[in-house]
Amino acid sequence: MNRATMRMTVTLLILAGSFLSAPGAHSAGKLKVVTSTEDLATLVREVGGDRVEVEAMARGYQDPHYVEAKPSFLLKLRKADLLIAVGVQLEIGWLPPLVTQCGNPKIQPGAAGYLEAATFAEILEIPRGQITRAMGDVHPLGNPHFWLDPANGLRIAQGIKEKLKQMLPGEAAYFEQRFQGFSQRLAEAEKRWSGQMAPYRGAKVVTYHRSWPNLAKRFELNVVGYVEPRAGIPPSPGHLVELMQMMKREKVKVILVEPYFDLKTPKSVARETGAQVVVLLPSVGGEKEATDYFKLFDYDVNLLVRALQSAR
Ligand SMILES: [Zn+2]
Repeated sequence: MNRATMRMTVTLLILAGSFLSAPGAHSAGKLKVVTSTEDLATLVREVGGDRVEVEAMARGYQDPHYVEAKPSFLLKLRKADLLIAVGVQLEIGWLPPLVTQCGNPKIQPGAAGYLEAATFAEILEIPRGQITRAMGDVHPLGNPHFWLDPANGLRIAQGIKEKLKQMLPGEAAYFEQRFQGFSQRLAEAEKRWSGQMAPYRGAKVVTYHRSWPNLAKRFELNVVGYVEPRAGIPPSPGHLVELMQMMKREKVKVILVEPYFDLKTPKSVARETGAQVVVLLPSVGGEKEATDYFKLFDYDVNLLVRALQSAR
């Protein structure tokens, strides 16, 4: 769809939306939350329980940098009380125009109904010196895949809790209690995941995209190279030759690939180097089993342990 058609569709949908969202269509008293990703939606559900209605836009199996903006996103945004985005430019390619076009003043950046998870999280790989997008780096403000550390999940949930308390002050105690419960369950789960990963401390891996620095830091994996030469840049033959030489030298036996990249190149690198390709999930909803924040880490940790075990 070109830009002009998109704009027209958007206008028509906004008109349609004004009829659809007539009084009575809202469920009484519930806060309507829209999130850019399924990871954020699951954290909102943890804290918000039945006092909120939450919907994600991007699906967990999509590349969150490049999501096709669907007209249905606009309808969701138009009715939202609160929009939560990942931030640090993860969604810069698709979300800002939608937010502008939806015409909902409550969720514009700077308004009370707009929140970025990055505000609360530890952000890694913040570039020093001059930043230039012309070089193709899709992470110019630091790495936006920060939800893949449970410690950041907790920080984000806490930020969401404060925002929900501010927006529904009558439910403050409820949100507080839900957050405490989440925090406790997460601490227990994290002990289990760390225990599972402990035997592989320092294990060397190569990843396709730079999706895993927070996960690697938490579970002490050593990411020594990338199939992509830079975030967002497809691999060149020269880069792959260097990568394969390095992998042989360093005896790297595992290549982690996000579900939305073609497996052809990683598989040929694996064949050449005696490594194995592991499709790891960066997001809730990346596979049917990964239904919430806990199941996402369960899935990834189990997969990593199996791969690192057989690499020994
Ligand atoms: Zn990225």
